[in-house]
This record gives sequence, C-alpha cells and structure tokens, in this order.
Amino acid sequence: MISHYIHSFLQDKKYPKFDLKAVFFDMDGVLYNSMPYHAEAWVKTMQELKLPFTEYDVYMNEGRTGESTINAFFPKVYNRKATDEEVQNIYKVKSQYFNQLPEAEPIENVFDFLKLVKNKGLEIFLVTGSGQLSLLEKLNRSFPNIFQKEKMVTAFDVKYGKPHPEPYLMALSKGNFDPWQAIVVENAPLGVRSAIDAGIFTIAVNTGILQDEELTKEGANVVFPTMKSLIESWDL
Ligand code: MG
Repeated sequence: MISHYIHSFLQDKKYPKFDLKAVFFDMDGVLYNSMPYHAEAWVKTMQELKLPFTEYDVYMNEGRTGESTINAFFPKVYNRKATDEEVQNIYKVKSQYFNQLPEAEPIENVFDFLKLVKNKGLEIFLVTGSGQLSLLEKLNRSFPNIFQKEKMVTAFDVKYGKPHPEPYLMALSKGNFDPWQAIVVENAPLGVRSAIDAGIFTIAVNTGILQDEELTKEGANVVFPTMKSLIESWDL
C-alpha cells in the first residue's frame, strides 16, 4: 500500500525512479513515547511565566529549538523577545522538570518495524533535534544492533534544525543518498516540513494528540495512526 503513495510521489516530483536504500527515523514521538513528558515539562514552565502555552502547542512546535519555541510565545505577553539569558534560564527549568519525569518507553511496535527495515537490507539513520549526551548508549539499550554513530544527525550536527530541511539533507549527504533513495518516518508537523523540503518521501505516524490534517498540511505523503498499521502496510 505504501508503494501506491510512492508512485504518485514520483510522478509529482518527476524523480527518475525510486531506489530505496535507507529509512531515516526521527526520535521523539517515533522511537520513544517522550512527547507527553516534554508537554508536561513545557506547560509547567510556561505557566510559571504566565505564557499562553498549551499541550497542543507543545506538539505543534515539536522539533523547534528551545529558543525558537520560547520566542514564539514570550513576546505575546512581554512585548519583546526573551534575552539569551532568559532563554537559557527558561530552558534550564524545562529540562529540570523533564528530567524529574520517568524515562520514556519505546513507542509500541517500533522495534519490530526497525528490525523489519534492517532485515530488508536497508540502512537506518537517526535524525533528531535532540542534544542528549550518551544518546547512542540509550538507543542501544532500547534497540540493540540497530543504530550506529556515523548514521546519526543530532542537535550537535546542525545549525538550523527542523523545520529547516538541513537535518534531512545532512542525512542524505552522510549516506551519499539521492532523495529518491530514502524514506522518512516522522510524527511532528515541523519534522514533516523539514523532510518534505529535503525532497524525501515522508511517512507520518501520528503518535500524539494532533489532528492528522496538521501532518498532511505540512506535506506528509501518508499518515498512519500507529506503528502496527505502518508495518501492516509496508510492501517495499
Ligand atoms: Mg518527533
């Protein structure tokens, strides 16, 4: 069933062919069910500053840097942007709240999907805005023998981050792929935007609280409600 969507994608893009070599995975909301915790920490932090910021806003802004998220809301109340120091302090509070919460569990069935992709002989890349230290160790604990250091794009690699296409373009260049040789799996509107602007076929798995149309509006080529439904539709 996915091949059906790829067929129309190729026609739209006028790509010469589809020659799948790799699948690029976002992390929060795709590999780990971490978004509820991010939402809780952000809303608590922003409420203390009297900033109008809902759980829905957290999901809509997922993928932005902390600074960009803060400055999308701060001027609404304070009529100016937050200073660098304020941004750092606010982000520090958010991180403290986040770190008090339990460690996020893997998204249901995602390990099965990763193994399916690997068994097809496809390369697996991680493309995340996360800047957690020791990310690879964490990934290896949750998903043994799947991820490799040289196949990761993280906050440490990029200048702009999502929704800019930079992170996904960087993954293409790291693997020496053309855009028609990869597929992206995303959960967030801004992540979808980044992948689509990098010219890559993008599957959205709507693991959060957003309406599907938030993902299709940004260009998602197909939206699934769960990893299980993605696995069942995988015909590549
Ligand atoms: Mg995500």
